[in-house]
This record gives sequence, structure tokens and C-alpha cells, in this order.
Amino acid sequence: GGEANSGRNRREAVFSLEFFTPRKASEVDHLLGLIGRLVARGPAFCDLTWRSGSLATDDLTLEVTAKMQNAVPVETMMHLACTNMPVQRIDRALERIKSDGVQNVLALRGDPPNGQDKFVPVPDGFASALELVEHIKAKYGDYFGITVAGYPEGHPDVIGSEGVASDDAYQNELAYLKRKVDAGADLIITQLFFDTDIFLKFVNNCRQVGITCPIVPGIMPIATYKGFVRMTGICKTKIPAEVSAALEPIKHNDEAVRNYGIHLGTEMCKKILASGIKTLHMYTFNKEVSALAILMNLGLIEESGVSRSLPQRHPSKVLPV
Ligand code: FAD
Repeated sequence: GGEANSGRNRREAVFSLEFFTPRKASEVDHLLGLIGRLVARGPAFCDLTWRSGSLATDDLTLEVTAKMQNAVPVETMMHLACTNMPVQRIDRALERIKSDGVQNVLALRGDPPNGQDKFVPVPDGFASALELVEHIKAKYGDYFGITVAGYPEGHPDVIGSEGVASDDAYQNELAYLKRKVDAGADLIITQLFFDTDIFLKFVNNCRQVGITCPIVPGIMPIATYKGFVRMTGICKTKIPAEVSAALEPIKHNDEAVRNYGIHLGTEMCKKILASGIKTLHMYTFNKEVSALAILMNLGLIEESGVSRSLPQRHPSKVLPV
């Protein structure tokens, strides 16, 4: 029954929380306050996104990362993308967070700069996340725990007009993902998805090609209809028919959409945990309500604050598979 289930979840499953870097320095205190409240609920780690291209905010990202690690404090992972980043600028960021005691990086290629559709590396920059992982390993050894991105439906570049990747493209992505792991990544976090079976199949397929590290599902609670349409458009996410059918009649009712998002996120996570996956990654979009409600429904956090313990260092190296 439900009780036995949530008891088991409480003991075994862990979660991580993702935040995006604010655009302005004036928004930092608000974000740190939010993170502090959520850290009291015991995430294994929190991560902060990297703004690429024309939105780049290196210094602000580095500053918030350091404050998360040392002032909140919480075990922190910084995303780092290669868009418009010569290696000197990459190393400036890595040296800085290293000196601030941050030990975790999500190594990304990044999207093409605004207005371009093909990713072209800058001179003296990296062409792929694989090259970034190789660089981090070569230059920093085991100092950083390294996470990489995985795409259960295939990277948007290989998703065709029918909304799916060809078998060949999908297999190429798996082989390439294995190269990222072999080059030194300890952990995979996935792109958002709404078809849980696609995620579970992806995990199986990763195991079949010899990827053994934890594969953590990226869960995006649907918070607003507009945000849902925007993100699923960018990521070319498959939307199951029942999700469209549920959203269509309520799309102008923000509260109903949010409640449905919590319900759907809870059901997806239950199924994922039942399959044996032990870590959930929540895309918070810098809001607390939906992520908290889902974690509470799952029995992963208590109604009122749980006691706070600083999680282990290098979570990417120690999370349960
Ligand atoms: P890569 O791993 O380099 O892969 C990109 C594509 O190229 C894939 O299709 C891959 O198969 C193909 N490819 C590359 N090299 C090879 C090769 N040698 N052989 C065969 N195929 C190859 N973006 C941001 O700007 N900031 C963020 O903070 C951010 N956070 C993210 C977090 C997560 C969990 C995810 C899933 C994505 C995030 N992104 C972020 C988006 C990401 O930058 C884009 O999806 C980007 O287009 C690809 O980055 P990547 O690291 O997956 O690239």
C-alpha cells in the first residue's frame, strides 16, 4: 500500500533541486532565500544553470554558485556550457569555483548563440560536452565530480519532423553518451520528458550499451500552461495524449494547471521510483510550490521542515544507481 511505499521512498530515494541564474544581481538575495528554505528539506545537492551566448552572466553565476556552496550552505553543482567560451574563459570559471570549494560541474556543450541554428565552437573553444569533460579530467583530475546531460527522446537536433529521432540517430546518441561517461562523467541528468515509458526505455538502452552510472530523471512540474508550451517546444518533448487532453480544458486556469502539474509529476515520479531509480532531479524554475508538493506527495520530505544535514561532498560520485 501507499504507506509502505512512502516509508521505503523516505529511506532510499534522494532528490536534487535545480535553479536558474538570475538575470540581475538584485535578484540574487531572493534566490538565495528560496534555496535556503528548500535546502532545509534535505536535497542531495542543488545546481545552478549557466547562461550562454548573449545572456551570459559568468560573474553573477560564479558568485551565486559560491554563495550556495558557502553561505546557504548546500553541496552545489554549477552548469558550464561551451557556447562562446574560449578555453581561458572556461578555466577562469573552473579555477574560481575550485577556489570557492565547489566540487561539482554539469558539463554541457550549450546551444548555438542566439540567431544561429548550428553550434560552431569559438576559436580555442570546445565543440562538444565530450571535449569539455576531457578537458576537466585532464586539467583538474578527480577534483570535480562531473555530470552530463542525457536525452531520453534524443537531442532536439536529431528529432525529425515526426517528433521522433530515427533509430540510427538514437543509437548514435547512446554511443556518444557512453563516450561522455567513459571520458569521466559520474552521473547523467536527463532532459525533461512527460512520457515516463520513454525515460525507462532510455535507461534500459543506456545499460545495454554499457553505461553503468546513475541516470537521474529531470522532472519539470508543469507550473503554467505558457511555460509548458514553451519548454516542450524548445526541447521537442513528446506530449502524451492524456496530458494534452487533461490540459486543454483547464489551460486558462493557472491554479488548475499547477494542481494538474503536481498530480502528473507525482504519478510520474512514483512510477520511476517503483522501477528502482533512486534519485529525482527537480527543475524548480526558481519556484518552490510544485517541487515541494510533489516531494511531499512522494513521502521524500515531511510536512514541516526536516532536520538539516549537510550532504556528502561529490554527490555525483556517491549517488545510488
Ligand atoms: P553534447 O553532449 O555535446 O551533444 C550535443 C549533440 O551533438 C547531441 O546530439 C550529440 O549526440 C551530438 N554530438 C556531439 N559530439 C558528438 C560526437 N563526437 N559524435 C556524435 N555525436 C555528437 N544549456 C545551457 O546553456 N545552460 C545550462 O545550464 C543548461 N543546462 C542543461 C541541463 C540539462 C540536464 C540538460 C539536459 C540540458 C541543459 N542545457 C543547458 C541545454 C544544452 O546546453 C543543450 O541541449 C545543448 O544543445 C547540448 O548540450 P550537451 O551538453 O547535451 O551537448
